[in-house]
Amino acid sequence: MRVTWSGGELTFRLDPEDEITGRAADDHPVKLATNSCSIGGVPADAHPDLFAVAAWTIVAPWTRRRITFDRAVSAEVAGALHDGWGIEAGPVGAEPRRAGNRLAISYSGGADSVAAAAIHPSAPFVHFRRVPHPRVPNRWTHYRSDVLAKLAERTGRELTTVTSDLEFTLAEPRPGYPEHHAVAAGALLLADRMNLGGLGFGYELGSRWLGGDRYLLRFTPDNPMWAPHGAWGRLFAAAGVHIVLPVGGVSEAVTMRLALNSELKDQVRWCLRGTDGPCRTCGKCLYKELIQAAVERRPLDTPVTADRPVARKWLQPPPYGGQEMIEYGLARVPGIERSLFAKALDHFEATEESTSWLDHCYPPAIEEIPEPWRTEAAAFLTSKVGLMTEAEVRQVETWGA
Ligand SMILES: [Zn+2]
Repeated sequence: MRVTWSGGELTFRLDPEDEITGRAADDHPVKLATNSCSIGGVPADAHPDLFAVAAWTIVAPWTRRRITFDRAVSAEVAGALHDGWGIEAGPVGAEPRRAGNRLAISYSGGADSVAAAAIHPSAPFVHFRRVPHPRVPNRWTHYRSDVLAKLAERTGRELTTVTSDLEFTLAEPRPGYPEHHAVAAGALLLADRMNLGGLGFGYELGSRWLGGDRYLLRFTPDNPMWAPHGAWGRLFAAAGVHIVLPVGGVSEAVTMRLALNSELKDQVRWCLRGTDGPCRTCGKCLYKELIQAAVERRPLDTPVTADRPVARKWLQPPPYGGQEMIEYGLARVPGIERSLFAKALDHFEATEESTSWLDHCYPPAIEEIPEPWRTEAAAFLTSKVGLMTEAEVRQVETWGA
């Protein structure tokens, strides 16, 4: 793979051994649509390691053996690419970038990132906004990135909005990030200007420790995407921008509660459709409604009926993505046996007691937060959430066993 940056414009050319269908770090197959994209709202100059890591978040799935950058990178970044992916990276010759002092939050406006923001109240936001690609048709016109960007502006936080069409480099499964980390491409290019030493993501307990959507039902201490000692964690650290997961130790029930109790509650929006509010009819709205109803201890309030396509998966047996939260909801939502989740109820014996670990914080997640920001996160999580007991910790570490 050969990559060239011109300001925020990235062009990449595949080497003969590269393939247009590759795999992201979570093993999901991704197909290339086009070999260029742009990132707006970022400075034209930044440390070469930042350009290199930003490019890698986009081209990693399709790169087989080597990557050639248009400017020399540090031996540290080249080493992280070699150790993490077996990739020969060069040319090498830059001094490493020193980590800055500040933490920014990669802010989507969803409950998880709002909760991360609540933990670090002075952290600035970097918001990724999708814009159309000049050469790829947009089949997702209902995705209201403009609405999410406006909500981010109304938070009152220091905000930098990055615009990008990088999701259109992906032909399949649909426009999306080639790697989950591509959401950070703009924040990486801003790291010198913002003096960043860390970037906070809203990935929660399920994504970090319970295998997320795709490694169903498995405890994942060595998660390659989000563990500090994983390939991505080491690569970001080599460029002086540590991956920080403020809510990595708490479930989506906790992030929902923290978000709805935070001063940003009026700006929380997890739905990508809908203009005046969440659409209430998409799969994500349905899943989040189950969690919110459980947190608020009220019956499910949804217009979705069991005959709708988005309800179909709940009529099938598990496993489900985010299964721990399904169990949590089934155990807590009054009248769930008369809802479209009734069939799912047949497969679990979840009780409030058996799911109460999802109300507390997994302590090793706090230990993973880099030192400059650990104290603030630990104080918040200890006082506002509470730590898991030994028995609850075992629930995490035997998940799926
Ligand atoms: Zn929706």
